[in-house]
Amino acid sequence: MDIELARTWVRGIGAAVERERERLGELDAAVGDGDHGTNMHRGFDAAVAAVAAMDPDSVGAVLTTTGTTLVSKVGGASGPLYGTALRAAGKKLDAERAEPAEVGAALTAALEEVRRLGGAQPGDKTMVDALAPAVDAFVRAADSGGRLGAAARAAADAAEEGMRATEPMQARKGRASYLGERSIGHVDPGAVSTALMMRALADAAA
Ligand code: ADP
Ligand code: MG
Ligand code: MG
Repeated sequence: MDIELARTWVRGIGAAVERERERLGELDAAVGDGDHGTNMHRGFDAAVAAVAAMDPDSVGAVLTTTGTTLVSKVGGASGPLYGTALRAAGKKLDAERAEPAEVGAALTAALEEVRRLGGAQPGDKTMVDALAPAVDAFVRAADSGGRLGAAARAAADAAEEGMRATEPMQARKGRASYLGERSIGHVDPGAVSTALMMRALADAAA
């Protein structure tokens, strides 16, 4: 991954979030307060602008700026979670290029940060249910010598599978947990946005 690819990734997430804004809102309306689409759109709109305006000296700087922007622009749970995670990932990538294994380590740091901050376990019906299998698939592909594009594609596929698996789950974290058993039968909106982010990486690296 180089600096330009990191920027393309952030722009790709911005475009995906814009395209899927309404669906993310509807999914969040079913189990939460309906703002996940506007939260993600507001955050990534600002992040795309921030990343376009900067002159980064490393891959990580692009991700750190994106994370900082999300933390400052998004009030919902997803802003601090994604923002802090991207900052943790950015800290790991302090050069102009990163090998797939280094990107895998950065994604691992991002997952650890989401889990530390949000306290969600796999199975709690959150973004962790898409992110954890995605990071696992990415690291496995990178460790066996896979290129960035292949690792990112494996990660996106795993994220989408993890996202679909949230439908029968009962939420144990976040607003959806207030619904108890009534959260069952809906896909988690944060798992959907995580899958969009991983697919945007696969598309950027293709
Ligand atoms: P809010 O719930 O504050 O309105 P959003 O609607 O933007 O924020 O984001 C909701 C998403 O955040 C959920 O679908 C879930 O994936 C994720 N989420 C919420 N709480 C947690 C948590 N404690 N750990 C991990 N993810 C969480
Ligand atoms: Mg919400
Ligand atoms: Mg909210």
